[in-house]
Amino acid sequence: MRKPIIAGNWKMNNTIEQTNDLIKEILEIELSGDVETVLCVPYTSIQAAIELTRETGIKIGAQNLHWEKKGAYTGEISSVMLKELGTEYVIIGHSERRQYFCETDETVNMKLKAALNDGLIPIVCVGETLGQREDGIHLTLVKDQIVKAFKDIGSKDAEKTVVAYEPIWAIGTGKTATSEQANEMCGLIRKTLESLYDKGTSSVIRVQYGGSVKPDNIKELMSMEHIDGALVGGASLKASDFGRLINYKTEEANV
Ligand code: PEP
Repeated sequence: MRKPIIAGNWKMNNTIEQTNDLIKEILEIELSGDVETVLCVPYTSIQAAIELTRETGIKIGAQNLHWEKKGAYTGEISSVMLKELGTEYVIIGHSERRQYFCETDETVNMKLKAALNDGLIPIVCVGETLGQREDGIHLTLVKDQIVKAFKDIGSKDAEKTVVAYEPIWAIGTGKTATSEQANEMCGLIRKTLESLYDKGTSSVIRVQYGGSVKPDNIKELMSMEHIDGALVGGASLKASDFGRLINYKTEEANV
């Protein structure tokens, strides 16, 4: 049985003061314990976020890391440094990192290995552009992203990894993939993982959907067979919306 996982990706938002305010607001809401709740905050907010969420069930993640443990990589941060702070999760290969910071399937693979070696739980992002979907190459493309991301990663490590299917055309656009489109791709991701490992391994890896997830569409998305959670940008910046996402099981939604 896969535990649903909902992760907020704050991106480059919130100072330490704003982090304190937002997390305090979130903590005022009674959050479902049936859902693993993660907040991926800016590096500068990690320490404050960890202190505020200690023993609350909310886990803290980073949004990126470097694949080396240390060295001459100005401006970068390593898994060792993130672990030292108490960070538990890390997003890898978000489409904004691929688009603006030249990340490739190869660097995603190196980062995934670094995170797993140092005990961080990776959330690996894959997904196609609108053009790629319109050209009909989206399924092959995402399959290829998965194969390359998991290259030379053993099944025990793969099991710890979370995959986020994020169609680039749905991120921050208000345009959500239909639950059928999202489920089709999440199912393909699981099938690809099964072909790389085996059924047992693929059946424990959690696959999230991300792309304009909101309180009024989460319930339908989460009802789909292959969707085990959500990676959420915009709606994670508002406590009431984020609370409604975590509590989706009891949410009155347009289903
Ligand atoms: C994201 O940044 O991963 C994301 C899915 O953003 P949004 O929810 O705003 O579309």
